[in-house]
Amino acid sequence: MPPAEPAARETGRAFEPGRGARQDSIAALGSPDGRSGVAPVTVRATLNGWGRVRPAPAELVRIADVEALRAALPLGGARGLIARGMGRSYGDAAQRSDGVVLDMTPHAGFDLDDDSGIVSAASGVTLGELLRFSVPRGWMVPVLPGTQHVTVGGAIASDIHGKNHGASGTFGTYAEALGLLMANGDLVELTWRDELFRATVGGMGLTGVIVWARIALRPISSPLLAVDTDRVAGLDEALAALTAPGGPYRVAWLDLLSAAPARGVVTRADHFDGDRDRAAVAGSPTVRARLSVPRRWPGGLLQPSTVRAFNELRFRRSPRRERGRLEAIGRHMFPLDALSEWPRLYGRHGFVQYQPVVPLDREDVLRTMIVSLRRSGVPCYLCVLKDFGPANAAPLSFPIRGWTIALDLPRAAPGLDALLDSFDELVVAAGGRVYLSKDVRMRAETVTAMYPRLEEWRAIRDGSDPEGVWRSDLAVRTGLVG
Ligand SMILES: Cc1cc2nc3c(=O)[nH]c(=O)nc-3n(C[C@H](O)[C@H](O)[C@H](O)COP(=O)(O)OP(=O)(O)OC[C@H]3O[C@@H](n4cnc5c(N)ncnc54)[C@H](O)[C@@H]3O)c2cc1C
Repeated sequence: MPPAEPAARETGRAFEPGRGARQDSIAALGSPDGRSGVAPVTVRATLNGWGRVRPAPAELVRIADVEALRAALPLGGARGLIARGMGRSYGDAAQRSDGVVLDMTPHAGFDLDDDSGIVSAASGVTLGELLRFSVPRGWMVPVLPGTQHVTVGGAIASDIHGKNHGASGTFGTYAEALGLLMANGDLVELTWRDELFRATVGGMGLTGVIVWARIALRPISSPLLAVDTDRVAGLDEALAALTAPGGPYRVAWLDLLSAAPARGVVTRADHFDGDRDRAAVAGSPTVRARLSVPRRWPGGLLQPSTVRAFNELRFRRSPRRERGRLEAIGRHMFPLDALSEWPRLYGRHGFVQYQPVVPLDREDVLRTMIVSLRRSGVPCYLCVLKDFGPANAAPLSFPIRGWTIALDLPRAAPGLDALLDSFDELVVAAGGRVYLSKDVRMRAETVTAMYPRLEEWRAIRDGSDPEGVWRSDLAVRTGLVG
């Protein structure tokens, strides 16, 4: 699909720096609060991650521009500061107990160059906002997580992966440059050639605050995806279907509550490149939540029996084998966004998403985990499996070539801690690791054993922030910062 309106230089929300401009010009961005020239206003707030497991009080400061950011720096004190995007990391990465949390979401605005597909974005812009603007113009955000509600800053700090990691790598791969506010107040422009850039990609906000980024989007021929679907009887079939020929967006949903062990549904999707007249499908790149879980949801309603019945329906309604079904990008990529506040379903104790990756020849670890889970009685309400391509040059980036599985588990389930400790041991022994952006429970020694380049990362981080200004609860709990 050619860009809808050729030639015109499009602007999403007010954003003027343009390609190569000095990053300070981003200070022109603004929203009613959190702007430069105004003394920082802090609000006492209780913050938690998406799993709602470890709520912690903090002083929250809304940041709309770089001067507001600089003004907030001295507030950190001994407890430190950490940036926060949309709070979609599952654990405690974007919170600081009794410290200062910088809410970057007011810092939004972007500029898409229609000819090159390069977008210059303030770090608080969400990927959903980018998609809504770019897809009708023929440009795709090259890596998308399972929700549209993540910011550019959060996507780089976690170096997020999508369903297409095997073909396309991580989000950070497409960041051509970024502006980083350092602990000493300097705003520096970095590229992949800089070690501080590589430590920032996947660095969980601990090298500084990402102020802006220049991202290379990908040309696409249509706002639709052509999707191949296969029902699978178990893990081995799922692994085979994930590696079968087909589109680059690959994912398996496994039903771990059914009597048949790990039956599921695998999809492989690609951008539709055919006759658009065939495409009598609405092509929205995002999803509008039509339902929301009420604040006072009685948590006990989420039970293995109800989820088992839901899974049965989901499995039966999926085609046994289907090729080339057309689907809108949003519907395919972000099914969970249709129900807002869905973590409330888990009640007040919340849930843990355990997401490890194991190398390609260690499928046995996945098998052992699935068997142990079923024996343990800990119910897994959602299980997703994906394949990963090779790791990149960022020392803390999560993906390595292999298999990643994500298990959603109620926090209150008896025996959960011991079970996940035993999974950690299996993952370490296999040369794998657990995703920091989903973690809420690992200990320092486990993280050290999982991330072999941790010391290299620490040396770069400590060099850029000798006073330890940037701190999150994740960082303190796991010893990422001293
Ligand atoms: C339903 C759902 C599906 C998901 N699917 C995937 C998936 O498929 N793949 C995947 O990789 N992840 C996935 N995630 C996780 C999510 O993509 C990451 O946790 C992402 O980092 C969240 O972005 P955020 O803007 O909400 O950041 P937050 O959760 O607010 O923060 C995450 C980290 O980024 C840092 N950070 C945020 N903004 C900045 C900034 N401006 N400068 C420096 N550091 C910053 C924070 O300090 C923190 O360490 C999913 C999450 C949900 C809820």
